[in-house]
Amino acid sequence: MKIIKAVRGMHDITPEKSGYWSRIEKALEKVLDSYAYREIRMPIVESTSLFHRSIGEVTDIVEKEMYTFSSRSDESLSLRPEGTAGCVRACIEHSLLNVPQKLWYKGPMFRYERPQKGRQRQFHQLGAEVFGVADVAAEAEMLMLNQRFWHVLGVEKHVRLQLNNIGTSESRANFKAALVKFLSKHKDSLDADSLRRLESNPLRILDSKNSDTQKLLDDAPKLKDFLADTSLLRMEQLDGLLAAEGITVEYNPRLVRGLDYYNDTVFEWVSDDLGAQGAVCGGGRYDGLVEQLGGKPTPAVGFAMGLERLYLLLEAVEFSALKGNDTPDGYLIVGDISLQANAFSLAERLRSETARFVIQQNLVPGSLKSQFKKADKSGARYALILGEDEVAEKKVAVKNLQTGEQTLFSTEKSLDDLISALRE
Ligand code: ATP
Ligand code: MG
Repeated sequence: MKIIKAVRGMHDITPEKSGYWSRIEKALEKVLDSYAYREIRMPIVESTSLFHRSIGEVTDIVEKEMYTFSSRSDESLSLRPEGTAGCVRACIEHSLLNVPQKLWYKGPMFRYERPQKGRQRQFHQLGAEVFGVADVAAEAEMLMLNQRFWHVLGVEKHVRLQLNNIGTSESRANFKAALVKFLSKHKDSLDADSLRRLESNPLRILDSKNSDTQKLLDDAPKLKDFLADTSLLRMEQLDGLLAAEGITVEYNPRLVRGLDYYNDTVFEWVSDDLGAQGAVCGGGRYDGLVEQLGGKPTPAVGFAMGLERLYLLLEAVEFSALKGNDTPDGYLIVGDISLQANAFSLAERLRSETARFVIQQNLVPGSLKSQFKKADKSGARYALILGEDEVAEKKVAVKNLQTGEQTLFSTEKSLDDLISALRE
């Protein structure tokens, strides 16, 4: 029979790795808590039109990366390729935008891309959005929060902040026209991708990976020359707020980002330790999106971080951030299957609120020898041995699996002696 495997570009997170994942997530969530963000959980499936209206018709995501299908009632639905659109939809639907609102989410996202290191078809993002703050204070606080992520995980030295201001839609329209005029004169030096974008989404040519194109762009009109004074002022203010907190910024005039909804501030945290997929986290301001999706005009800023890329970065440069204790405290060896009820009773008491030990109880019949082997393999520090003699005497034998030392403890009344021995 042909074995069925996971779909290309979609991966299991197996138990050897899931402990690492949950530790990263917990660390990130603690940071989000400390900035008073609250969690929101959205569905994975949304109406396709939500993404067309928000991300934009001529973006890579909508043009060629979405998992879109018809439901049985012929609605067009899509697996979410990102979280912002759904979050904004939910906020409008539940009237969450009457006051400044700080939200975060995490979960799987889906994009039909060519799978490679750091690029999957199902991947995970942790993202956050701030609604109702027009001032650059929103960006500043969000970037400080990002910086704290890196600090907590010990990778501060391995990520850099790139920042740009892409202005208002009016500035962008003017710049776009000038850019198209310039590039149209040099069509013969553009590759197929850029030629296509020249028609559909010329700003994306700015982050073309083609070195000839990049050289050509040196002489092209500059976005900055088209920015309104308000945008230039915002850049300066944000720079000042970040500098005061010791956050170093690289200005990248070619950073435009792939989604249509951004205005003014856009940013990316990039790493040189990840190969071609160096962007760990990206975001920006999107003041028009809420209104575009049918809500009241509401300024907004957000970021999304790729958790697989963060994980790869930690694996490459700061493995200690992933490590923790994934092994049980005690492995409970049961002398005979008839003693299982006594074993449960002891194990449950050791797992209770007062004791809180991680106990792995042997559940399948086996000789003492084979159970000791399993205890060793489990990584537990102690083997707890409950045989017929121990049960008769209301005792349990505890063996330190590192030193081999073995002691008998009473299982009557409180387990104080046993608990303090295990705690040592
Ligand atoms: P890239 O330029 O690498 O394709 P992007 O600009 O498309 O990234 P965003 O839409 O801004 O990415 O998503 C935010 C973050 O999500 C990225 O910085 C990255 O860390 C992560 N990410 C995006 N697409 C993928 C993917 N296919 N697989 C894994 N992580 C991804
Ligand atoms: Mg992409």
